[in-house]
Amino acid sequence: MGKSKQTGNHKSDKKKNIAKTWKTKRRTKDLDQIHDDMKPDNAARLLKQEPDYDVTGCAQFYCLHCARYFVDLKTMKEHFKTKVHKKRLKELRVEPYTQAEAERAAGMGSYVPPQSVHVQTQPVEEEMS
Ligand SMILES: [Zn+2]
Repeated sequence: MGKSKQTGNHKSDKKKNIAKTWKTKRRTKDLDQIHDDMKPDNAARLLKQEPDYDVTGCAQFYCLHCARYFVDLKTMKEHFKTKVHKKRLKELRVEPYTQAEAERAAGMGSYVPPQSVHVQTQPVEEEMS
């Protein structure tokens, strides 16, 4: 038995697959993750990030509800007016699914529909010079 004649074909195959996987994974956060981000502590952290030069707008303009970065304040404000953003706010108005709710739905105790959460666009600091 000599050496295997395989020439690394396997490797390049793998690479291709990984690229494909990444493409399908390229999606924004799930709503429950965003609900988590909306907690005051997390929100403050996300909205006041250290400048990251690899990220759009150096990570200084972040829409909490859509989990998106923008190039500048103007672009972000424009985004707040768009359908996508408004739709997202609407989606976020429903309380995240909880264990208590699952139990209620399963007939343990009386069913109470999920509470509405007041969601609004994050305040924008006007005095950025
Ligand atoms: Zn948004």
